[in-house]
Amino acid sequence: MKEYLSHLIFKTVSEESQKLGFQTYVVGGFVRDIYLKRDSKDVDFVTVGSGIALASAVQKRLKGSHFNVFKNFGTAQIKTDDWEFEFVGARKESYDRNSRKPKVEDGTFRDDIYRRDFTINTLAISLNQENYGELVDTFGGLQDLQSSIIRTPLDPHITFSDDPLRMMRAARFAAQLNFKIEENTLRALKTEAHRLSIISQERTTDELNKIILSRKPSIGFKILFNTKLLHEFFPEMVKLQGVEIREGKGHKDNFYHTLQVLDQCCQKTTDLWVRWSAILHDIAKPPTKRFVKGEGWTFHGHEDKGSRMVKPIFKRLKLPLGENMRKVINLVKLHLRPIALTKEYITDSAIRRLIFDAGEDLEDLMILCKSDITTKNKEKEKRFQANLINVEKNIAAVEERDRIRNWQPPIDGQQIMNVFGIGPSREIGEIKTALKDAILDGIITNEYDEAFKFVLEKGKELGLYKQ
Ligand code: ATP
Ligand code: MG
Repeated sequence: MKEYLSHLIFKTVSEESQKLGFQTYVVGGFVRDIYLKRDSKDVDFVTVGSGIALASAVQKRLKGSHFNVFKNFGTAQIKTDDWEFEFVGARKESYDRNSRKPKVEDGTFRDDIYRRDFTINTLAISLNQENYGELVDTFGGLQDLQSSIIRTPLDPHITFSDDPLRMMRAARFAAQLNFKIEENTLRALKTEAHRLSIISQERTTDELNKIILSRKPSIGFKILFNTKLLHEFFPEMVKLQGVEIREGKGHKDNFYHTLQVLDQCCQKTTDLWVRWSAILHDIAKPPTKRFVKGEGWTFHGHEDKGSRMVKPIFKRLKLPLGENMRKVINLVKLHLRPIALTKEYITDSAIRRLIFDAGEDLEDLMILCKSDITTKNKEKEKRFQANLINVEKNIAAVEERDRIRNWQPPIDGQQIMNVFGIGPSREIGEIKTALKDAILDGIITNEYDEAFKFVLEKGKELGLYKQ
């Protein structure tokens, strides 16, 4: 333990705390992560006294550090290099059922440890002279760490009902650490899940994103689903679950399929938004599902409808609506295209179209498509992967020749409007699309003169004439 306390800060905090007559401990995530051998540079100090006074005394002795005080919360923060030290006075919390905001008063060290979420997060290391560096384990947190168990220190119903965000945190830690949730704690998750509604969507989504960024998010999603926490904020995803059988024909369970795609995607990229596209790629399968007699189940248009569902879902989940969402929409919309290309004789124009439509998202699209192979048949899996690698080769060859990515036709909409002396209209849109298609299909070359001639002809067909 002592070697982890070699950073100057711990000695300094200990000395300043002693001078002020406080009792001080390192608590929570940092202590847990020492035992888990996870690198962590966020350290929380709890002091029985004023966290701000202690932090201020410590900061004066640390050269080149930045100091922030949050008076309203009674906390202070010191940043040096890439370390973040958080100081807070020990507190006691009491909750009102209808709010997440507890009544907070000064408390003892014990009060502070009792209000924490999981036993593995209650571990503390003393910085007091008499037992410097000693582990204080009030709730058997070390044992739970060693057995990979998530358990609340108090009655889980009370812990979760007091602050329902802790339920999301339980699923999050299970996913991040690959831990099991203890039986009683799991049962309480099920009975208290409905309480999540008092938590702001931003905080819930924050935990959800941490699950998605973990190594194997399916662990977290299965917990969210089985406890019905997922039902509270993501009904579209819940609807993916289930298999219907008619005339002896079933379809795959799209919930578990989606989780497998997500896990596979996580082995290929750490990009949160590509991972989101894995979650959403089949999201419109339930609303597009049809049974065709003699044929079986179809999900026609689920990629288009799915891409249109992205924005409302992002809005509701309070995810950012900018460039990242645009990428997710594009990936959902195009997720069948590379696979479709493996089924037919591949023409250059089909490849060109894909390159044009995917644009800068092309590599991410290929990651999504490769992750979307979930067949249990090893032979098939090999063949599908090989097909996609072949598509990639074809793409590379066409790109090399055409440089189609980020390409725009040699005449743009504004120029077309000038040619015919009219403003934005259906006709202009039609000419623009026809021009793009003609070049992508290789009917005319990608040159100004040919494009200009084409525009004039197309205009004439629509009753427009050069001004
Ligand atoms: P990480 O920083 O990896 O997300 P962490 O355990 O450090 O994990 P933080 O959110 O930084 O989590 O919180 C620090 C500590 O504060 C936790 O270890 C836990 O003891 C306590 N804590 C945080 N949030 C809650 C909560 N909602 N209810 C009870 N205790 C909490
Ligand atoms: Mg932390």
